[in-house]
Amino acid sequence: MNIHEYQAKNLLKSFGVSVNEGVVIEKISDFERKIGTLRSGSYVVKAQVHSGGRGKAGGVKFAKTKADALEHAKNILGMTLVTPQTGPQGKLVQKILVTEAADIAKEYYLSFLIDRGTCKYVYIGSTEGGVEIEKVAEETPDKIAKIFVDPVGGFKAYHAVDMARALKLDDTVVKELISIMKGMYDLFTQKDASLVEINPLIMTKEGHLMAIDAKVGFDGNALYRHPDILELRDLNEEDPNEVQASKFDLSYIKLDGTIGCLVNGAGLAMATMDIVKFYGGGPANFLDVGGSASTEKVTEAFKIILSDPNVKGILVNIFGGIMKCDIIATGIVEASKALGVKVPIVARLDGTNIEQGKRILAESELKIIPASSMKEAAERVVKEASAHGHSSR
Ligand code: GDP
Ligand code: MN
Repeated sequence: MNIHEYQAKNLLKSFGVSVNEGVVIEKISDFERKIGTLRSGSYVVKAQVHSGGRGKAGGVKFAKTKADALEHAKNILGMTLVTPQTGPQGKLVQKILVTEAADIAKEYYLSFLIDRGTCKYVYIGSTEGGVEIEKVAEETPDKIAKIFVDPVGGFKAYHAVDMARALKLDDTVVKELISIMKGMYDLFTQKDASLVEINPLIMTKEGHLMAIDAKVGFDGNALYRHPDILELRDLNEEDPNEVQASKFDLSYIKLDGTIGCLVNGAGLAMATMDIVKFYGGGPANFLDVGGSASTEKVTEAFKIILSDPNVKGILVNIFGGIMKCDIIATGIVEASKALGVKVPIVARLDGTNIEQGKRILAESELKIIPASSMKEAAERVVKEASAHGHSSR
């Protein structure tokens, strides 16, 4: 789960990391009243959407006066921001953060996450922080420093001393770096984060370190034990189908192909996406209905696939183990009746109660194309979807 910049900064602040002050505004009419609590004479107006790269896309604007800040606020609030991370459809800006402008002497990059390769935590730092960090990582990886932390020992001050050396920081700010890195560590470990990133971490003209942008992501599987974090969830920022799927405990991830896949088991779902690709198609989604889904759950899963306008064909690939084929078949029939399916469906069912499952589909009057193997099913659905795509254009 991701959160907004202002929420990430509030959390970091509560863990002792210094950030620049700001106010969140959802309605322009609140501007005058809210901005009154800020001290500085210059401001930065920032779109609050779950995406990086806002600056380059016009979602971060510097303002020398309050009047300029108001102008930027009016422009940014309600705009659709398109960044390399949002996809071409962009994201509607429903909240802005207006901060006190910081005086920047230099921008650094600093993040904290798990390094799976070494089974350790790692701090990643760079002297080349700011809006070009992806380019730095790609073109000059030697400018990226990594400091590993053994999870048994945890964070120690010397990790910060090592990082300060790598970033060529003055001795005078090592203490500040220690509290920043300790705060990142504590936030990460106490709240089950998956990423804590500060970009840029700045050296102010007065010679202090400060976070002026932050991104924090959390491990979805651990959210049940952090109700305070779950409260920060903003459903406006998530794909509506993914939100709907999570209500029914379905693992659904939207992708950009045209073949809707309804599968049970994550492994079979991965294999299904692979074989669809192999036959020249692209999966429209990853969907695992789980090992023991009810008819209701299958119906919901089918509805979610059907609501994606990109879907030109559906591949049902089910191996009935704990899951029974008749349950799946009933779910498909119910959902199709309710929604009126216009795209071709290819179904490969096997396993427990296969005969009942086949009978339910055959008696349903739906035009479901049966397939006896995964290979046959994938090949067929790609062909049918491409024919359907042309005819409906
Ligand atoms: P991002 O583009 O989504 O990563 O948004 P950031 O919050 O990182 O802002 C992008 C860039 O705007 C930063 O790298 C800074 O160069 C600049 N910026 C952001 N806040 C301030 C500020 O308070 N003062 C100054 N001088 N520049 C800022
Ligand atoms: Mn940034």
